[in-house]
Amino acid sequence: MAAYFERVAVIGAGQMGNGIAQTFAGQGSQVWLIDVNEQALSRGMGAIRASLDRLVKKGTLPAVEAEGTLSRIVGGCALSDASGAQIVVEAVVEREDVKRQIFAELDRLTDPKCILATNTSSISITAIAAATQRADRVIGMHFMNPVPLMKLVEVIRGHETSAATTRTVMECATALGKTPVEANDYPGFVSNRVLMPMINEAAYCLMEGVASRDAIDTVMKLGMNHPMGPLALADLIGLDTCQYILEVLHDGLGDDKYRPCPLLKRMVAAGRLGRKVGKGFYDYPG
Ligand code: NAD
Repeated sequence: MAAYFERVAVIGAGQMGNGIAQTFAGQGSQVWLIDVNEQALSRGMGAIRASLDRLVKKGTLPAVEAEGTLSRIVGGCALSDASGAQIVVEAVVEREDVKRQIFAELDRLTDPKCILATNTSSISITAIAAATQRADRVIGMHFMNPVPLMKLVEVIRGHETSAATTRTVMECATALGKTPVEANDYPGFVSNRVLMPMINEAAYCLMEGVASRDAIDTVMKLGMNHPMGPLALADLIGLDTCQYILEVLHDGLGDDKYRPCPLLKRMVAAGRLGRKVGKGFYDYPG
């Protein structure tokens, strides 16, 4: 199998990072999956194994290919493991300070030709790129959740991102079996600029007692033909991530319509972060 990039590093082994690693390895790349937290790394590797097992059981992936994919993923906790990569995709927590620090280090550690991509949902690509000496090679590569199943990749050009980098990442996304769409660098890009106000409004409806959780989700599923309701979707994304994105939209666009709903903030404070911890608007036993 000819991979678009032979050597790929993915930073962050959370729900997005492990899906991105699986997707690249499935297309033949050797992948280094890196997380600062050893437990998060082993959870991420376990999630990849479980995801591949599900595809094999469903009959959509031959067992031998699943084994091959798994064998191409190496986990580690040191950012220096990314040094041989031709492209790095960062998928750590949605915080600008953390991402800028990682990009400054990646700039020092990797080959100057290496493309540094971020899976950020909302943070300025231009600001992340400014932490490096290669802003022309920094780009947004925004996969959707769950990565192995979702077709879209939003490709975001920062102020200095070159046309060659954009073309390469668009081609790479296509080679991964995805459909890339280009967007410019404004808070939340297209996907979350449109999605987050809906999720936030659903949280306000719940907080103000307009309707119950199940009623709100049912209205959007049956009335608007959405595959899942906004509160269930918020749980899938992670309520902490939703709050961070809304804060970026609020700060970046300066409009109070983006202020995170107090109920959403209270749930994050209570540790109800959604599916990844087993409880959010809904409970996920086991
Ligand atoms: P997550 O909380 O599941 O995982 C984040 C991981 O990053 C954790 O395992 C954490 O240990 C690790 N991490 C934190 N700091 C690190 C560092 N300095 N170096 C290495 N690893 C570090 O989060 P997620 O949902 O996977 O989101 C990751 C990124 O993807 C965010 O930028 C988010 O906005 C974006 N995103 C999320 C979704 C979604 O639906 N959750 C969709 C698209 C994009």
